[in-house]
Amino acid sequence: MDFLYAFCVVILENKISTMQKAIFLDRDGVLNEERGEYTYKVDDFIIPEGTIEALKNLKEAGFLLIVITNQGGIAKGLYTVQDVLKCHEYLQQQCDFLIDDLYYSPYHEAYSNSLSRKPDSLMLEKAIAKYNINPTLSWMIGDSLRDMIPAQKLGIRTIKIGKKIDLTVDFYAENLWEASEKILK
Ligand SMILES: [Mg+2]
Repeated sequence: MDFLYAFCVVILENKISTMQKAIFLDRDGVLNEERGEYTYKVDDFIIPEGTIEALKNLKEAGFLLIVITNQGGIAKGLYTVQDVLKCHEYLQQQCDFLIDDLYYSPYHEAYSNSLSRKPDSLMLEKAIAKYNINPTLSWMIGDSLRDMIPAQKLGIRTIKIGKKIDLTVDFYAENLWEASEKILK
């Protein structure tokens, strides 16, 4: 029995020590400029100054970089999965393929509910399971309440870009660059 207990402790310690830390990134309004409408064309995918540098610095500090984005325009028939993938390919090219994974939710509550659409947390939970991520060492950076809610539910620290919201977050920042500075300090 003692042996079994010791064995389990070793397995568990190993599991914890190999856990990774991640930066979860909302897309629109964080990695590319928020236009006030859906962004699904590469021509409209404007990456703010300092964004790529911020991603590089976070990556060098040992964080996985994982995009978590709602793309409800797919459910609405405004654009296609292919449009989203083209934008993501462009983003990866611009940052030298630094991003480890990109999760998008194609659903919208007007058509079909999904636990993957933020503020639900399924996209985050999938990434945490797949990459063995320790939420308490990780951060979510987003520009809306919808990004903060699922992160806090899972014990992930939060940085809100832009205007203040009616929720306590760990930090506010003007943009991704400023957010990265706060994390790395
Ligand atoms: Mg956003």
